[in-house]
Order: sequence, then structure tokens, then C-alpha cells
Amino acid sequence: MNEYLKRVLEETKKKNSNEPEYLQAVEEVLTSLEPVLDRHPEYEKLAILERMVEPERIVTFRVPWVDDSGKIVVNRGYRVQFSSLIGPYKGGLRFDPSVNQSIMKFLGFEQIFKNALTGRPIGGGKGGSDFDPKGKSDNEVMRFCQSFMTELQRHIGADVDVPAGDIGVGGREIGYLFGQYKRIKNSYEGGVLTGKGLSYGGSLARTEATGYGLIYFMREMLKANGNQTLAGKTVTISGSGNVAIYACEKAQQSGAKVVAMSDSSGCIYDKNGIDLAAIKQIKEVERGRIKDYLKTHPDAVYTARTGENSPIWDIKTDIALPCATQNEVSLQSAQKLVENGVIAVGEGANMPCPKEVIEYFLENNVLVAPAKAANAGGVATSAIEMSQNSMRYYMTFEEVDKMLENIMVNIFRECRTSAEKYNQGNNYVAGANIASFVKLTDAMISQGIV
Ligand code: NDP
Repeated sequence: MNEYLKRVLEETKKKNSNEPEYLQAVEEVLTSLEPVLDRHPEYEKLAILERMVEPERIVTFRVPWVDDSGKIVVNRGYRVQFSSLIGPYKGGLRFDPSVNQSIMKFLGFEQIFKNALTGRPIGGGKGGSDFDPKGKSDNEVMRFCQSFMTELQRHIGADVDVPAGDIGVGGREIGYLFGQYKRIKNSYEGGVLTGKGLSYGGSLARTEATGYGLIYFMREMLKANGNQTLAGKTVTISGSGNVAIYACEKAQQSGAKVVAMSDSSGCIYDKNGIDLAAIKQIKEVERGRIKDYLKTHPDAVYTARTGENSPIWDIKTDIALPCATQNEVSLQSAQKLVENGVIAVGEGANMPCPKEVIEYFLENNVLVAPAKAANAGGVATSAIEMSQNSMRYYMTFEEVDKMLENIMVNIFRECRTSAEKYNQGNNYVAGANIASFVKLTDAMISQGIV
């Protein structure tokens, strides 16, 4: 292994020994950069890697709020402002009990590279809280969001840091957060948050963007490898949240048959193809469980999740789209997918496949669309939302969708070109890491020691 790379990895492990997800993300990116580091020994003197793995700033704060029974609850809030090399910090907010500093840092780190790939001027950041919105009333969610923003507002701004949604943060939460920001600042700064509602500065196609973008990337990858198409392919999609729902919609529009979706409790298999309207009703309107699908589709089969492995990956499929959360595909699940003849995996979620799982897929000639490229459509469309806010202007759905499609085509092209340039074949995981690293390094060198 490259000596410089080895040293930085060791130092990072020592400094962040209690942050497994963060170390996992750093190792995945850094090890794939070996061919670039071999060609550029001067990077060591410039401490490029050391500066890349140290966040510019981390803010943690207390979030006190009162539940419906009058009880005072205290959660912890985070904002990791990782890198402002190529634009204001940009990245979502996650509300989930699993949130901790390691998860925030892994997501912020990934975001730097993802945002660089979009070709838009946005830096990398991430934030959130260990608050669990499940089972909370609208009023409780509102009070939490108001308390969270009361502190967060000190650290963000349209040219400073622009949060958006992620797990547990959708349109409802963004609305409450925006309302509180505006109230405190006494200023209508539309571009301070993205994923806003259409009536107050949101962009058409932002809701669909991550899922649609994933399918646009998949289309390009299939085309470049044997001129294949999505039409007629069987697809399974984990999760049934924002990313999963719109990946399903675009996959179906592309002629694929989606046969399974899931949530954290289990998965449904519908041999006739998933009825997406029913999923939207359960998840977007009723905020229910995926098992409820059986009430209207008694022919479907529900399998509860019992152990470590998600049952969805035991289902035979051509294309698997993990769109739920990090580390959701185990090596055992990957082996099952390969045994069942999977040809491509598209990461809709962030880091759903650990490094050894990606390596296993690549060794078995399974195409992998890496998260930081394949799910970049969401943040790219957030940047389009920011542009519309600055211009005081609204674009049509078709205009935004076309821009998104072009961005995803370009991202695939960049991953492919970089992989080829550094002799990585069709390893687009390495291609994505290299393409974004080269861009960021260029900006870092230009800006001096900051
Ligand atoms: P949502 O909250 O809308 O949906 C998350 C889905 O994943 C739900 O169906 C949830 O089920 C399921 N899920 C969550 N945790 C687990 C778990 N531990 N095991 C199994 N299933 C789980 O989130 P998003 O769709 O927005 O985000 C999904 C992923 O995509 C995340 O990794 C996020 O970082 C990534 N992403 C999102 C973007 C966006 O624009 N929204 C952009 C780029 C990446 P349940 O309801 O049971 O919890």
C-alpha cells in the first residue's frame, strides 16, 4: 500500500477510534485513491489527505422540547461543516435515534465528494439529531423542529450552510424548520434550506430527484455495459421512503418490474409488480407500515425481519437497489444476490454496502453504481432549488427533470472516464472517488493552507 496513504489511515484510525462508520467511509474512499497518490507524490507535502479527513467545524447542541403530555425531553443536535472548498456547506439533516457523531461525520465526508461530482458549487456538510419522529404528533414534531432551529440558525445561511432532508426529515419537518428560521432572522432567505414546499420556494422535481437520478445513472451504466436497458428487468428496492418510492416510480416508467420493497420491520413481495400508489398512500399519507400493503393486496407476501440480514435480498432479482440506510447489505445477502443472478446494484442510500460487499460484487462481475455518484441527483436538484431562489424564479417540472437527467449522465461519464484513466476498468466506485478527489484537490491547492 502507498506509504502516505497507509500513514494517514493509521493516524485517522487512532484519532477517531470510537467512530466506526466514519472510519469505514474514510477507508473506502482513501484506499481507492491509491493510483492517484502514486502518480502525485507531491500531495504528501501538501497534507492533502490530512486536510480532507478533518472537518472544518463540528457543532453539537442541546435540543430541549415539551411533548404532548407536558414532559420535557432533551435531544442532541449536530451539524458537521466538513468542507467549504467548492461552495457553502450543503447536506441533509437526519432525525433518527441512531444518530451520533460517527454517523454525522461519515455522511458529511461522503457529501463532500458527492457534491463535487454534481458539478455545482456546493461544499459538504451534514447534521441531525437522535430525535425519533416515529409515533410523534405533528405538534410534537413542530416543537422539536423549532427548538432545533433556534440553535442551528446561528450556524447556517444561504451563503454559509444550506441543510435539507434525509432520513426522518421530509417536507413537514423542512416547513417547520424554515418557519422558525424566518421568524428568528426576520428575513426571507429562501436559499437557506432546500426541499421546501412548492408554495414557499421549493423546486418542482426535488421530491423525486434522488430516486429518479438513481435510475438515470443505472440506465447509463447498463447502456455502457453491453447496451442493456431497464425494460423487462426485475428490480427489488429496500426502504419505502423518499428515495425508494421515486426510484420505484422511475424504474416502472422505464419498463422494469419492481417486485419488492421494505421498511425496517420487513419486506413485501408482489409477483404482479408493486402497486406504487398503494405504497405512497401507506407511507406518504398514512405514515403506516409496509405490512399494511397486504390489506389491499392479499396476494402479496410479507416477510418480517428477524435477524441481521434483510429478507429482501433473498428475493431473486436482476437489479438490487438498496435505498434504506448504511450497511444494510451484508456479505451473506450479497452472496445470495449473486447466487440468484443479480447483474447490477445501485446504491440509493448512503454507504448501504460495506467495502467487502462492494469488492465481492465487483469480483463477481456485478455492476455497482456507487452512492456518492448514483444518489447525487437529490443534492444536485437542491442546488437547482438554490439557484431558483436566488433568481426569484420557478422552473417547470420538465425543465428541472431534464437538468437532473443531464447531470446524472455527466456524473456517469466522469466516473467512467476516471476509472478508465486510472486503469480501474468498470469499477465506478473507484471512478467516482477519483473524479471528485481530483476536483477537490485542485481547489485545495489553489486556496492555500486554509
Ligand atoms: P426516509 O426517511 O424517507 O426513508 C427511509 C426508509 O428506510 C424507510 O422506509 C425506513 O423504514 C427504512 N429504514 C431506515 N432505517 C432502516 C434500517 N435500519 N433497516 C431497514 N430499513 C431502514 O429516508 P430517505 O429515503 O430520504 O433516505 C434513505 C437513504 O437515502 C439514506 O441513506 C439517506 O442518507 C439517503 N439519501 C437520501 C437523499 C434524499 O434526497 N432524501 C439524498 C441522498 C441520499 P422505517 O420507516 O421502518 O424506518
